[in-house]
Amino acid sequence: MKRLLAVLLAGLMVLSLAACTPSQDADYIIYSDNAFAPFEFMKDGAYTGVDMDLMAAIAEDQGFTYTMKNEGFDAAMGAVQAGQADGMIAGMTINDKRKETYDFSDGYFEDGQIMVVAANSTIAAEADLAGKKVAAKKGTESTKYAESLKPTYGFEIIYYDDSPAMYQAVLTGAADACFEDFSVIGWAIKNDGIALKTVGEVVNKAYYGFAVKKGTNPELIEMFNKGLANIKANGKYEAILAKYGY
Ligand code: GLN
Repeated sequence: MKRLLAVLLAGLMVLSLAACTPSQDADYIIYSDNAFAPFEFMKDGAYTGVDMDLMAAIAEDQGFTYTMKNEGFDAAMGAVQAGQADGMIAGMTINDKRKETYDFSDGYFEDGQIMVVAANSTIAAEADLAGKKVAAKKGTESTKYAESLKPTYGFEIIYYDDSPAMYQAVLTGAADACFEDFSVIGWAIKNDGIALKTVGEVVNKAYYGFAVKKGTNPELIEMFNKGLANIKANGKYEAILAKYGY
């Protein structure tokens, strides 16, 4: 009896150890944004979205494992640059400036940025931002765009860590406008019913890509590209986009 107990206890210890350390065994650590629907967002207690599904499908296709950490966009870029993350997938726009510090996969979705104001705002053009406050999400192309307009029109920029905080600033009047990726603000207006509207045209249209720190993990970029091509060929890519209304 004592012996049986000891064996059972030992078994339990092994099981609980295994349950505590699954992330240690993953081949790669991937970082992502935490609130960027439809690419990554919390639903029923778990992260879901285009990026989450693409990563899962590509890893399955290529036979590697990973741990996903949804820490925010700026945090993900910091983690990749610091070598804490092997890669990131976060609705991240591929461009030449970023290519100086990242290696990107092939593009997997095209989008650009657009101006966003409160549904009842009278702001109708970029020139109307003169003397106003613009909310910006740290590290993004939207922030870069707002910063590029600032000298022309003269407005104040207030920086936020995530998209919801930026929307909230515009909704409460703490800011008069923000810039956001078109499909993401479109999703928030349509699916979350927030009282915001877009103004003008989409700017800086470009592709999103999976990224690693420049010069590191070349095999990961290669597997991502191969996996992406395979899931495009077998219909999985299309099914993932369709799941989110594309
Ligand atoms: N596509 C934008 C960028 O790359 C925004 C990404 C994000 O906020 N997750 O800067």
